[in-house]
Amino acid sequence: MKREIIGLVLLSGFLMGCSPDSSEKETKKESANPLQNYEKTLVKSRDCSHEMSCRNNLRMISAAKDQWGLEKSKSEGAVPTKKDLQEYFRSGTFLKCPDGGVYHIHPLGKKPDCSIHGTL
Ligand SMILES: [Zn+2]
Repeated sequence: MKREIIGLVLLSGFLMGCSPDSSEKETKKESANPLQNYEKTLVKSRDCSHEMSCRNNLRMISAAKDQWGLEKSKSEGAVPTKKDLQEYFRSGTFLKCPDGGVYHIHPLGKKPDCSIHGTL
């Protein structure tokens, strides 16, 4: 059961276009304990997929801002609120960073960012 969950986490990291471990060589000589290496990879992969999904959120926020600007005939510098944007998301609620970061929407013309993962 535990093994299945681990597989899923690794798979989700992979599906999100994120390599579970970009420094494979380094990990290999780091430790002789394969389980330890495996767990390191796992942690890295989880962080990585959080970052990827956060970036996805930022992309959606950015797209929602553009859409809002077009629909409401706003010009650069106008600042939408979370409430303005949430109707553009499928969930109908404003997106949340998977690691609890705070999203700064910023005015039109500037990319949104996350307090933990930074900007796009
Ligand atoms: Zn984030």
